[in-house]
Formats: sequence, structure tokens, C-alpha cells
Amino acid sequence: MQLLDVTDLNTSFFIDNNVMHAVDGVSFSVPKGEIFGLVGESGCGKTMTALSVMRLVQPPGRIVKGQVVFEGKDLLGLSEREMEKVRGDRIGMVFQEPMSALNPVFRVGEQISEAIIIHKNVGKKEAKDRAVELLKQVGFDEPEKRYSQYPHQLSGGQRQRILIGIAISCGPSLVIADEPTTALDVATESQIINLLENLVNDSAMSMIFITHNLNIMRKLGKRIGIMYAGRMLEQNLVDVFFREPLHPYSKGLLSSIYGLAGNQKRLTAIPGSVPKLAELPRGCKFHPRCPYVMPVCREEEPVIKEVGKGQWVRCYLY
Ligand code: SF4
Repeated sequence: MQLLDVTDLNTSFFIDNNVMHAVDGVSFSVPKGEIFGLVGESGCGKTMTALSVMRLVQPPGRIVKGQVVFEGKDLLGLSEREMEKVRGDRIGMVFQEPMSALNPVFRVGEQISEAIIIHKNVGKKEAKDRAVELLKQVGFDEPEKRYSQYPHQLSGGQRQRILIGIAISCGPSLVIADEPTTALDVATESQIINLLENLVNDSAMSMIFITHNLNIMRKLGKRIGIMYAGRMLEQNLVDVFFREPLHPYSKGLLSSIYGLAGNQKRLTAIPGSVPKLAELPRGCKFHPRCPYVMPVCREEEPVIKEVGKGQWVRCYLY
């Protein structure tokens, strides 16, 4: 059963007389208890997709079309007051930069307690007990001591654990983690990934994990969506994707990381660069970089279609 169903989501930016389509016809589903990986290079629309799901797009951006059905309700039809209840309570969010997401003048434990008090209507003592419990759950050995510390007294990895604690403090059914390990070293990254994976495995929680790092998705999650220029180019099962990617862009990404099949050492970069939203080419947005380009690709954009069970691709080769 799907916890979240995003259908034909479109978010655009209106600047002067220009319209930029930051999220263009994106659809995906997240089943209960699963991690869905949203992958792409910087500026491809993955964070904007997450902000659209949370209805946190700021002007001059605006959601112009689509459906975001979460726990049976279309979030795009809720009032702002109803949406505030969903954020933090039913959907938690973990951001890329833990220092800027935490308030430097409040103790970290209080920041967790605060989230619980706002959403769960409980007293200070109960919220504190729950916060200490959460600190333990996210891997702190001395949770009472940590409760009283300030963000600057903690390392980057520890601050990210605090943010994860806040995100799960009200028992959400979905957590959106946006590049949560980008600012961390490799060893800490691996600890945070393990923590997130364990949290999902130990509860009925689902997660959208946003990353530019395909290596992380090799370990984490069951399904993956590849974004480019605001579009979803491919959706696939993680293990199938790493064996047999469908879209030429996915193939390029994998060979730039792991090398060509049978020649693991020869890494091949995708020629060209990601187009700017204001200067998208006609037709398939990947065509200037695609080794398989055909005349039709330059004229008309392909639609995304299902080519196998749970496998979707936006390309004329299929
Ligand atoms: Fe390449 Fe054409 Fe497929 Fe685009 S539609 S990825 S240009 S083959």
C-alpha cells in the first residue's frame, strides 16, 4: 500500500517575464516502510520536489499543478493550518546543514522537546522524558548530558543525529532526508546512513532519501528515481538499476562512477553539463549529451512510461 502518491507535480518559478519549470510532471510513490531514493545532480529539482511535497515552496516559486496524496489526503488541497499539523507531526524533515537548521541559543534537548510539545500537546516533563529517550534512540550514550548541550558543543555528525531526533520526535510516518550526509566525513556518513536505515527497519516509517551520491543508494533503499532538469527520467528497483540501468543518463552516471562493464577501471564522464533551467533544450532535455540521440529526440520530449513492473523510463529507445 502506498503512503505517498505524487502525481504530475509541477512547480515553476515566475521571474520577470520568464517561467522556469523547476519540477515538471514528476510522479512517484512511496510505499509504507520503504526508502525511496531521489537522485540527481545539483539543481535537477530533487530538493524542490521535496519542498513541494511539504508545501514549502517560496515565491517567486509556486506549485502549479499536481496531486500529493499522503495518508489518503491531497496535501495540495489542505489549508495552511492543516498543513502545519502534517509538517513535523506526520512528515519529518532532515536537512543538509545541521548547524543552520538548529537554533544556536537553545539546548539541543529543548529543541527536541519543543517539537513534541507543539505537535503532541504534552507537558514539559513528558516531552523531556521523550526527548531523552529519542537521544538514546539516535545513538547518544549519555542522553541526559546531551540534552543540556548547545549545538556548538556537538560535532557535525552529532548535530545531524539531533536533527534526526527532531524529525522522528512525533512518530511521523514519512521522513524526508535531503542530502543529510553531505557535510559529513565518510565515517560519520556511514554511521548516519546506518542509523536512518535502522530507524526505518525498526518502525513502520517510510523515507524519501535525497542524494547526488549513487553509492549511498546502492546500500540504502529499495526503489530509486533519477531526476534531470526537473524531470523524472527513470524509476527502478535499486538492485535492477545497478545491474541494468535503463536511461542513457543513468548509464552515463553509473559508468562515471564504476567504469564501463567489463572494464571497471575506465571511468567515462558524461560529456557536457546539466542545462540551466532558463535554457533548456527542445525535445528530450538530455539530448545534447546523449550518445544515442535520434532526430525525434531533438524535436519532441518523450513521456515517461512503464516498461516493466515498477520500471519507468522517459526515452525514445523504449
Ligand atoms: Fe537519448 Fe533520445 Fe533517449 Fe533522450 S530520448 S535519452 S536523446 S535516446
